[in-house]
Amino acid sequence: MLKQRLMTPGPTPVPEETLLELAKPVTFHRSGQFRALLAEVLEDLKYVYCTKNLVLPLTCSGTGAMEASVCNTAPPGSKAICLIAGRWGERWRNISKAFGITPIEITVPYGKSVDPSQLENALKEHPEAEIVCSTLSETATGAKNDIAAYGKILKDKSQVLIVDAISGLGVVECRTDDWHIDLCVTGSQKALMLPAGLAFISVSDKGWKKIDANSSQQRSFYYDLKKYRDNLKNSDTPFTPANTLVKALKVSLKMLRAEGIENTWARHGRMGAACRAGAGAMNLKLMGENPADGLTVIHVPEGIDGVELLGKLEKRHGVRVAGGQDALKGKILRIAHMGYMDVFDVLTALSALEMSLLEMGYNQLEPGAGVAAAQKVLSSSIKKN
Ligand SMILES: *Cc1c(COP(=O)(O)O)cnc(C)c1O
Repeated sequence: MLKQRLMTPGPTPVPEETLLELAKPVTFHRSGQFRALLAEVLEDLKYVYCTKNLVLPLTCSGTGAMEASVCNTAPPGSKAICLIAGRWGERWRNISKAFGITPIEITVPYGKSVDPSQLENALKEHPEAEIVCSTLSETATGAKNDIAAYGKILKDKSQVLIVDAISGLGVVECRTDDWHIDLCVTGSQKALMLPAGLAFISVSDKGWKKIDANSSQQRSFYYDLKKYRDNLKNSDTPFTPANTLVKALKVSLKMLRAEGIENTWARHGRMGAACRAGAGAMNLKLMGENPADGLTVIHVPEGIDGVELLGKLEKRHGVRVAGGQDALKGKILRIAHMGYMDVFDVLTALSALEMSLLEMGYNQLEPGAGVAAAQKVLSSSIKKN
């Protein structure tokens, strides 16, 4: 028998208590009971978002909420400044194009983060742009972007700040209100510890002003955010919600609340630091310069076949991590440690990675070196606490 361990950056493992909730019979969603439950879940989400604003629930994957954010705020023919540090940033560009919005692409090489000065320059060049789209944690490369700095630049400007926080919310610090994020998007299958199927958007007052001003050009029926706002006055949704997932989310959110959001960020900080130290001690190169703590992105070393390495990790050691996408296929490994994970999951992944590399003839590694380095980081962080 080989135990399977899911360490991909979405979907992520779901806690046992939440799985038990998912095993219960399906109930009808137009009921006082469900409305009360939805209201409670949205309050708990506000806590995770660090916002006082409304959080809208959508039944779709994260991309649906990204699309909703763009098509509600920017009319066709307008411009969107897209801050692109990888594949997920590129998605903002592609969504913009799909709605006839011209993307202004501010692109940095894979592994880097977008410097706030690049946003300042883009705004000078394109002061008429309607929206700025960014990514908190660029899951393609492991890079974190400085959303707080973008928010400071934009707070007195007309553009709204849209953030894809899908792999960042509940992982790294994300203060939606303090950082002046106007539309903050997340999905259920990352740090919220749920299967895929729900997505959320928080909307600021400035965000709603933009949406209301744009309403005559509304180009989506299902993703018309004003409908969600109106229905939420009654704790209801305009269309059938994935109500079984909402019920399960209540369980996962209670776990997050019990831990406390700052402790959640700190736990991910420890896991990220341990994983990076472990990889370093195995003489592996990391990708993100300013890494987000939800995943560790490692270059596959010279002479090792990345696709074979992934297969070995999964089939021989039961650890499912992600490879690279598109041009990075076979070149990188992405080990996720977000959501229902603790430091022992990280130690296991490092151990499996060491064994796989050694089996494949990698010779720049003393057995146990990665795990030992990670443990050292962990014990020093525990002493500090
Ligand atoms: C996982 C992820 C998405 C996912 O989109 P889905 O539509 O849920 O597949 C988007 N952005 C980022 C940064 C992600 O990590």
